[in-house]
Amino acid sequence: MIQAPRGTFDILPESAQKRKLVEAEADRILGAAGYRRIETPTFEATELFARGVGEATDIVQKEMYTFDDGAGRSLTLRPEGTAPVCRAYLEHGMRKLAQPVKLWYLSSFFRAEAPQRGRYRQFWQVGAEAIGSEAPETDAELIVLLADLLEAVGVRKTRLRLSSLGTPASRAEYREELKAFLHEHEDELAEDVRTRIDLNPMRAFDSGDPGTKAVMRDAPKLLDRLDPDDAEHFARVQALLDDAGLRYELDPALVRGLDYYTRTVFEFSSEELGAQSGVGGGGRYDGLIELLDGPSTPASGWAAGVERMLLAARELPPAPEFVDLFVALAKQDGSRIAFELALEARRAGLQAQLELAGRSLKGQLKHADRIGARYVAIIGENGVATLKDMQSGEQHDTGVRDVIPEILRAERMR
Ligand code: AMP
Repeated sequence: MIQAPRGTFDILPESAQKRKLVEAEADRILGAAGYRRIETPTFEATELFARGVGEATDIVQKEMYTFDDGAGRSLTLRPEGTAPVCRAYLEHGMRKLAQPVKLWYLSSFFRAEAPQRGRYRQFWQVGAEAIGSEAPETDAELIVLLADLLEAVGVRKTRLRLSSLGTPASRAEYREELKAFLHEHEDELAEDVRTRIDLNPMRAFDSGDPGTKAVMRDAPKLLDRLDPDDAEHFARVQALLDDAGLRYELDPALVRGLDYYTRTVFEFSSEELGAQSGVGGGGRYDGLIELLDGPSTPASGWAAGVERMLLAARELPPAPEFVDLFVALAKQDGSRIAFELALEARRAGLQAQLELAGRSLKGQLKHADRIGARYVAIIGENGVATLKDMQSGEQHDTGVRDVIPEILRAERMR
């Protein structure tokens, strides 16, 4: 039997319902702050991600689904949403609109990662981007909106980590300082940290090794090396989050590995999730639009994984199925009348289904009960139907044409 490809999954009706909640809450929360929905293509020119995510990243190096379109163009299934949104911003001349342009999306993304709980090869993200504002208020607003969304969806035990990356220049300078510091303490560091000093010195902050941890307590911190403008910007973001009553931890080791990231970075995680604990994160990317050949444009945004949100959320009670009317048949030859009655009921605004499986009358009533039908109309002979109220069990004969008006009248009285 053919199965869904490794790392992918079907969204069955039961889980579709929970995902609808995520979408509805995102629409409500982001819409109220002026973010408008955007949908970009599922695939893009490979070049967009090579530049917009960065050649040196894991995503571009080994996680992209890239293919030739048969006409010599290299295309890639989108691994993330920020670069496509920025491409659309430039392509549609959105810089002529009032700034910032606030956009949100809920789309599926593709990464060839090793699948595990909370990590898939096709997954969904809700994302929000504010392009054209460098105000710290924009960063704080985005962070609060994600906190609100996580709360609305019921994500439990969340933790928010926050940092600032400054500018690429101050970051590069700091990196050299950190490398020199680590080399000075080489013999106190864990093996895996020592061998990666030059490749990835920031990793040392994440080490669980006691010796390394002791060394890192005295390591220089990027947050202490920010340019005055960047430090001021970061102080404002923190003050705004304080005012909003949002709790966060400063995490000097929080890095987003891409060169175009600047200033604010943040990540929400949940203890409910185990190894893949990141629920959503983002930050400011003032360098990205320029990297895509646009004018220098400040921007900020985040993305949060829908599957991770649902894994970390408390179980929702399954929404009861509900049907206003089930049209049953006393004899199978009434099916044309039943078909028409169900159609008319739907046009009158009722949820209506009809018998489609050739069940006995007893079987039909059982089925109507199972799908939660409020009323059943049993089509009899000569334009007569038996209308049964499934709650009270009462039933009476009436004209087929009177079924809908009677239900509507009864519902108005309730
Ligand atoms: P990123 O775009 O890598 O910053 O990821 C943002 C969020 O998307 C993460 O916090 C996760 O919730 C989610 N995410 C990223 N990669 C995956 C994946 N392979 N499977 C499921 N969710 C993912």
